[in-house]
Amino acid sequence: MPQIAGGCLCGKVRYSASGDPAFVGVCHCTDCQRFTGSAFAAVVGVPKGALTVQGELATYSKAGDTGKATYRRFCPQCGSSVMDEGDALPDIVMVGVGTLDDASWVKPGMQIYCDSAQPWVHLGGNIQSFPKMPG
Ligand SMILES: [Zn+2]
Ligand SMILES: [Zn+2]
Repeated sequence: MPQIAGGCLCGKVRYSASGDPAFVGVCHCTDCQRFTGSAFAAVVGVPKGALTVQGELATYSKAGDTGKATYRRFCPQCGSSVMDEGDALPDIVMVGVGTLDDASWVKPGMQIYCDSAQPWVHLGGNIQSFPKMPG
Protein backbone atom coordinates (compact mmCIF):
# COMPACT_ATOMS: atom_id res chain seq x y z
CA MET A 1 0.00 0.00 0.00
CA PRO A 2 1.52 3.35 -0.97
CA GLN A 3 2.21 5.96 1.67
CA ILE A 4 -0.09 8.94 1.02
CA ALA A 5 1.08 11.68 3.35
CA GLY A 6 2.47 15.10 2.73
CA GLY A 7 2.13 18.82 3.20
CA CYS A 8 2.90 22.30 1.99
CA LEU A 9 6.25 24.05 1.77
CA CYS A 10 6.04 25.74 5.19
CA GLY A 11 4.60 22.68 6.95
CA LYS A 12 1.48 24.41 8.39
CA VAL A 13 -0.75 22.17 6.27
CA ARG A 14 -0.37 18.40 6.54
CA TYR A 15 -2.50 15.60 5.16
CA SER A 16 -2.60 11.84 5.13
CA ALA A 17 -4.84 9.21 3.62
CA SER A 18 -5.41 5.56 4.30
CA GLY A 19 -5.92 2.97 1.59
CA ASP A 20 -5.05 2.89 -2.06
CA PRO A 21 -5.36 5.87 -4.39
CA ALA A 22 -8.32 5.94 -6.80
CA PHE A 23 -5.96 6.97 -9.63
CA VAL A 24 -2.72 8.76 -10.40
CA GLY A 25 -2.89 11.18 -13.28
CA VAL A 26 -1.47 14.19 -15.04
CA CYS A 27 -3.50 17.19 -16.21
CA HIS A 28 -2.20 19.56 -18.87
CA CYS A 29 -5.13 22.03 -18.74
CA THR A 30 -4.17 25.70 -18.61
CA ASP A 31 -5.90 26.15 -15.22
CA CYS A 32 -3.71 23.44 -13.68
CA GLN A 33 -0.65 25.01 -15.29
CA ARG A 34 -1.50 28.34 -13.63
CA PHE A 35 -2.46 26.81 -10.27
CA THR A 36 0.77 24.86 -9.99
CA GLY A 37 2.94 27.47 -11.73
CA SER A 38 4.38 24.51 -13.60
CA ALA A 39 3.99 22.80 -16.97
CA PHE A 40 1.31 20.38 -15.74
CA ALA A 41 -0.33 19.04 -12.60
CA ALA A 42 0.49 15.53 -11.39
CA VAL A 43 -2.08 14.35 -8.86
CA VAL A 44 -3.06 11.38 -6.75
CA GLY A 45 -6.83 10.88 -6.53
CA VAL A 46 -7.86 9.96 -2.98
CA PRO A 47 -11.39 9.01 -1.81
CA LYS A 48 -12.68 12.01 0.18
CA GLY A 49 -13.53 9.95 3.27
CA ALA A 50 -10.02 8.51 3.47
CA LEU A 51 -8.28 11.90 3.65
CA THR A 52 -7.37 13.76 6.86
CA VAL A 53 -6.13 17.35 6.66
CA GLN A 54 -4.47 19.31 9.45
CA GLY A 55 -4.07 23.07 9.20
CA GLU A 56 -5.92 25.73 7.26
CA LEU A 57 -6.24 25.67 3.49
CA ALA A 58 -7.50 28.63 1.45
CA THR A 59 -9.78 27.86 -1.48
CA TYR A 60 -10.09 29.38 -4.93
CA SER A 61 -13.20 28.25 -6.78
CA LYS A 62 -13.68 28.48 -10.53
CA ALA A 63 -15.80 26.74 -13.13
CA GLY A 64 -13.76 24.13 -14.96
CA ASP A 65 -13.90 23.24 -18.64
CA THR A 66 -16.97 21.04 -18.00
CA GLY A 67 -18.84 24.03 -16.50
CA LYS A 68 -18.75 22.42 -13.07
CA ALA A 69 -17.00 24.12 -10.16
CA THR A 70 -13.47 23.23 -9.14
CA TYR A 71 -12.04 24.01 -5.70
CA ARG A 72 -8.32 24.64 -5.67
CA ARG A 73 -6.86 24.58 -2.19
CA PHE A 74 -3.58 26.17 -1.19
CA CYS A 75 -1.67 27.15 1.93
CA PRO A 76 -2.37 30.82 2.77
CA GLN A 77 1.02 31.05 4.48
CA CYS A 78 3.41 29.77 1.81
CA GLY A 79 1.18 29.60 -1.28
CA SER A 80 1.80 25.94 -2.09
CA SER A 81 -0.92 24.40 -4.24
CA VAL A 82 -1.76 21.35 -2.13
CA MET A 83 -4.96 19.78 -3.47
CA ASP A 84 -8.02 20.33 -5.59
CA GLU A 85 -11.52 19.00 -5.88
CA GLY A 86 -14.24 19.31 -8.49
CA ASP A 87 -17.97 18.81 -8.71
CA ALA A 88 -17.25 16.61 -11.74
CA LEU A 89 -15.62 14.07 -9.37
CA PRO A 90 -17.43 14.75 -6.08
CA ASP A 91 -16.05 11.83 -4.06
CA ILE A 92 -12.38 12.41 -4.88
CA VAL A 93 -9.73 14.82 -3.64
CA MET A 94 -6.68 15.22 -5.86
CA VAL A 95 -3.49 15.87 -3.91
CA GLY A 96 -0.48 17.26 -5.72
CA VAL A 97 2.30 14.72 -6.27
CA GLY A 98 4.88 17.38 -5.44
CA THR A 99 3.47 17.74 -1.91
CA LEU A 100 3.94 14.04 -1.03
CA ASP A 101 6.63 13.18 1.51
CA ASP A 102 7.48 10.11 -0.55
CA ALA A 103 6.49 10.17 -4.23
CA SER A 104 8.76 7.30 -5.24
CA TRP A 105 5.79 4.95 -5.84
CA VAL A 106 3.93 7.37 -8.12
CA LYS A 107 3.31 6.20 -11.68
CA PRO A 108 0.69 8.22 -13.57
CA GLY A 109 -1.75 5.95 -15.42
CA MET A 110 -3.32 8.67 -17.55
CA GLN A 111 -2.84 12.16 -18.82
CA ILE A 112 -5.70 14.47 -19.74
CA TYR A 113 -6.06 17.76 -21.65
CA CYS A 114 -3.11 16.80 -23.83
CA ASP A 115 -4.45 19.37 -26.37
CA SER A 116 -2.98 22.12 -24.18
CA ALA A 117 0.21 20.32 -23.12
CA GLN A 118 3.38 22.36 -23.43
CA PRO A 119 5.11 21.21 -26.63
CA TRP A 120 8.29 19.96 -24.92
CA VAL A 121 6.48 17.72 -22.42
CA HIS A 122 6.61 14.03 -23.36
CA LEU A 123 5.84 11.64 -20.53
CA GLY A 124 7.30 8.15 -20.67
CA GLY A 125 5.93 4.90 -19.37
CA ASN A 126 2.66 3.16 -20.06
CA ILE A 127 0.30 6.13 -19.90
CA GLN A 128 -3.17 6.56 -21.40
CA SER A 129 -3.59 9.90 -23.17
CA PHE A 130 -6.75 11.94 -23.68
CA PRO A 131 -7.05 15.20 -25.67
CA LYS A 132 -9.47 16.66 -23.07
CA MET A 133 -11.43 15.22 -20.14
CA PRO A 134 -12.21 11.54 -20.83
CA GLY A 135 -15.93 10.99 -21.24
ZN1 LIG B 1 2.41 26.33 3.88
ZN1 LIG C 1 -6.31 20.49 -15.10
